[in-house]
Amino acid sequence: MYTGLQRDRNTNGYRPAFFNDKIDVSYNAKPVLAADSAIGIGENPCIQFGFVADQPGALQVVIRDNHGATFGQSLAVGGWMRLIRVACLLAAAAAQVGAAPLRVDQVAPGVYVHIGQHKDVEEGYDGDIANIGFVIGTEAVAVIDTGGSYAVGMALKEALRAITALPVRYVINTHGHPDHVFGNAAFIGAGPPPRFIGHAGLAQAMASRGDAYLRNLKKQLGDAADKSTLIPPGETVRDLRTLDLGGRKLELKAWPDAHTNTDVTVFDAASGTLWTGDLLFVERTPAVDGDVRGWLAAIDALKRVPAAITIPGHGPVTRDKNRALERERAYLAALLQDVRGGIGKGESMTETMETAAAAERGRWQLFDAVNRRNVNLLYPKLEWE
Ligand SMILES: [Zn+2]
Repeated sequence: MYTGLQRDRNTNGYRPAFFNDKIDVSYNAKPVLAADSAIGIGENPCIQFGFVADQPGALQVVIRDNHGATFGQSLAVGGWMRLIRVACLLAAAAAQVGAAPLRVDQVAPGVYVHIGQHKDVEEGYDGDIANIGFVIGTEAVAVIDTGGSYAVGMALKEALRAITALPVRYVINTHGHPDHVFGNAAFIGAGPPPRFIGHAGLAQAMASRGDAYLRNLKKQLGDAADKSTLIPPGETVRDLRTLDLGGRKLELKAWPDAHTNTDVTVFDAASGTLWTGDLLFVERTPAVDGDVRGWLAAIDALKRVPAAITIPGHGPVTRDKNRALERERAYLAALLQDVRGGIGKGESMTETMETAAAAERGRWQLFDAVNRRNVNLLYPKLEWE
């Protein structure tokens, strides 16, 4: 029952409400308790009160959220249970109002991924475009990327909590792009906070771009950007690092400048699953924000990783990693060659935007918008080569 959620007109998905405005409790239609409140749903609120039932019946709780939507929950009270303590009833209701769980698929034992949609950041963006997920060990869970908003992070957490009660010990960010990191804050809750882990350069990258990213997010998402904030890593990966989840180890690797200057990959040896972050795009046009030559070198190195299953930063999970990497390599090589060629022929940047990597257009989604931005970034750099 998700009547307390708003349906998002872009995604047709549900959007969480952030505050419970009003709470009404009645018993057999007689008022018991009415309260105005501003309880943030992320705080997992718990209201306790005592109540003596004069006859068997039903206790009805109605919560109105800050979007004006209502959520109801009913608790049957038997003849023998006249005195009841209603504890956390509201919390349970609020948690459901808070976030419809994100759909996640188990791609290997204990490895869950949510596949983001191919939407451009400038049209209909909802914060849910990147692949994000988690790996479960015998003692703890590691979350790998958290989505593009607090709300998406909360929905991922709901999905995780429906599967395991183990603590989230690590939140790993594969790089600093907003669609992968703005959900971090959702994993700070009542218990001990997880350890946030990213590339040695990630904190600096977040600091320098954070304000602009947050401004954009508010413009793109409006109210749905509420509570989104950047949480920088408390621990970093400079080269290699191993995390132990109990019964399985994650091998993290930090890369030199490639897709960005903060790329980290995660390899789960137990299942042979490789999380590439945005070092691999499948279907969606690869977006350059780092160094194309470095990226081409990273692609060659990634081909040697013995992965049975590969989770790209965008697009479907693949069992044919090297073919996907080859496809990506073809695009990036064409982009590099054509931008160089355009500069060599004295073409302007605008002209080059129209022609660069044109042979690849039919093979990628969102090609025109992303390819243009790539040329915009690459052209000025290569002009001075
Ligand atoms: Zn990215």
